[in-house]
Amino acid sequence: MGRSNVGKSSLINALVRQRVARTSAAPGKTRLANVYRVTRGGGAPLYLLDLPGYGYARAAKGQRGATSPEAARRASQTEFEAIVRAVFARQPAGLLLVDARHPGLATDRAAWQWIREASGGTAVVATKIDKLGRGERIRALRAFESVLETSVLPVSAVTGEGLDELWKLIDRLLSNSHPPRSRPPQPQPPRATAAPPPRRFPSTKLGAALSASKGRKN
Ligand code: GDP
Repeated sequence: MGRSNVGKSSLINALVRQRVARTSAAPGKTRLANVYRVTRGGGAPLYLLDLPGYGYARAAKGQRGATSPEAARRASQTEFEAIVRAVFARQPAGLLLVDARHPGLATDRAAWQWIREASGGTAVVATKIDKLGRGERIRALRAFESVLETSVLPVSAVTGEGLDELWKLIDRLLSNSHPPRSRPPQPQPPRATAAPPPRRFPSTKLGAALSASKGRKN
């Protein structure tokens, strides 16, 4: 998760070493969540979700039912919140992406506060670190760490810096936020009533968004 244009799609492509996510120099294009099923060396698949970027107010043209630009913006915001809420209802591991060149943005601070409360495990990743010189990057990372009060992993989708560390971080977050897969089946206590149905992906707008997003700009 991160601001529009922070480099979410580029980072996904760099992580999986394929162009699966469409990138764009123009902010505000990603209005839907995209989900990527990633398999590594025969291990269990993991699902990477690229959420719509925040911090870019312009609503998409032709927002359904909008009668004015302001109504379109509000509809866009409502749609964004519905998608994000549906995703975080499952308490996934959450990565907040911040642009290494812009420490301390109010939208990033708010997102960090929110994501920490909503996720099973979280971390902050500073993108586009290749754009900073040595001195600038030290200053920027210090500034992030002091504002967000957590360590920040610098990465670059262009040079590949930090990607191995990011995979390790993802593995750590996943192992902390899910029960171990190798755990033997636990004995079930006797139940007087039928077991509840297994938890499914929330059937909110996210389901529609995910299927509608197939093949569209991320
Ligand atoms: P998204 O909107 O968050 O998905 O951002 P994109 O992945 O589409 O990237 C937005 C812009 O930033 C594009 O022009 C990318 O080429 C550029 N970009 C993304 N990651 C990096 C990076 O690590 N280094 C540099 N120099 N540019 C990047």
